[in-house]
Amino acid sequence: MTSQEELLALDARHVWHPYGPMPGTVPPLLVREAAGVRLRLADGRELVDGMSSWWAAVHGYRHPVLDAALTAQAGRMSHVMFGGLTHEPAISLARTLVEITPDGLEHVFLCDSGSVSIEVAVKMCMQYWQSTGQPGKRRLLTWRGGYHGDTFQPMSVCDPDGGMHSLWKGTLAEQVFVPAPPPGFGAPLDQSYVDMLAEQVAAHAHELAAVIVEPVVQGAGGMRFHNPGYVRALREITAENGVLLILDEIATGFGRSGALFAADHAGITPDVLCVGKALTGGYLSMAAALCTPEIADGISRGELPVLAHGPTFMGNPLASAVANASIEVLLGQDWLAEVRRIEAGLQSGLSAAAELPAVREVRVLGAIGVVQLDHPVDMATATRVVTEHGVWVRPFRDLIYTMPPYVSSDEDVESIARAIVAAAAVA
Ligand SMILES: *Cc1c(COP(=O)(O)O)cnc(C)c1O
Repeated sequence: MTSQEELLALDARHVWHPYGPMPGTVPPLLVREAAGVRLRLADGRELVDGMSSWWAAVHGYRHPVLDAALTAQAGRMSHVMFGGLTHEPAISLARTLVEITPDGLEHVFLCDSGSVSIEVAVKMCMQYWQSTGQPGKRRLLTWRGGYHGDTFQPMSVCDPDGGMHSLWKGTLAEQVFVPAPPPGFGAPLDQSYVDMLAEQVAAHAHELAAVIVEPVVQGAGGMRFHNPGYVRALREITAENGVLLILDEIATGFGRSGALFAADHAGITPDVLCVGKALTGGYLSMAAALCTPEIADGISRGELPVLAHGPTFMGNPLASAVANASIEVLLGQDWLAEVRRIEAGLQSGLSAAAELPAVREVRVLGAIGVVQLDHPVDMATATRVVTEHGVWVRPFRDLIYTMPPYVSSDEDVESIARAIVAAAAVA
């Protein structure tokens, strides 16, 4: 057995971590196993997970139903190619996704990660216009403050500053940006902002394939919430101007914001919807782009009547089986009550942070809690403080935030909130 120290030294030398330098500078924590909401570290410490492994592990780790689904599927087949072959796990998953997502989304493209599902969504929209005789409609419009993934097409619609567009000038497609939506889930609708959206979409309609946004919650772009009315407005404005609407629910899907899908807060159906992250309960990498029959029909009318995309691991049976189990577990309980319970726990637990001098704002929506400071978080200090409190959260920029697994107990949520308040006090 390689010792902890040797493993960490090898990690620093060889293993690239998200958004990290090579070789690594800040040593990551070595996790041995995880169960329920607890991460067990190699040095014996146990941390309550406040991140759901980036929105994904909504049922916690080693959930017996998900473990059993995965094991059973491994006993049948772990993978077969999806070209020319199909299987029950993927078929069931597609049918379920069509049932639970907003009405009108009928067709499902399964792919391997959130970023790839955005690529597919954009390709669907561009190819729709190409196939229906308007090949000039190739650009995207989005509001600032967004995050849609790290491959090039998604990068082009990430917030231009946070996404470091200056680094990629000339490489990234130049998209149309409008100001970020006015903040606050419960804030009144700002009609002048809606008017601006309408003007910008109309002005660029001739060149726009689609508007793409994260509905209601902007995640990795800044953890901001907005009135669902802006999403409803975008649906009307895009429809009036012959522009498609892509909603990125890779973070918000499966209950996180207090609606099964954030689009449900707005009561609308986009032309294309992307889901990922919590799709497999955090077990395996899988995402999906769902579209309306109109998109599919449009593409079918083209010179090339097929969607030219097909990842090697498309529809992976293990990922499909565990996704089916995860959705069953989610819908088999009063998930909304659990999310509301966590929301209440975060609201009361994080309220103490609002009194701290360096805290700009505390905001909570569904099972998402955010403390925004008036300066960038000192990562090393914040990590030390939260882990001393027995909690795992990973701040970024000026944000210390949490989206706990839905199975977190009231005590777990209290611990997470206490750790975040302590980190906000010193970091
Ligand atoms: C994480 C995320 C993505 C990218 O998903 P990956 O699986 O990391 O490629 C895209 N959009 C949103 C809103 C996300 O939160």
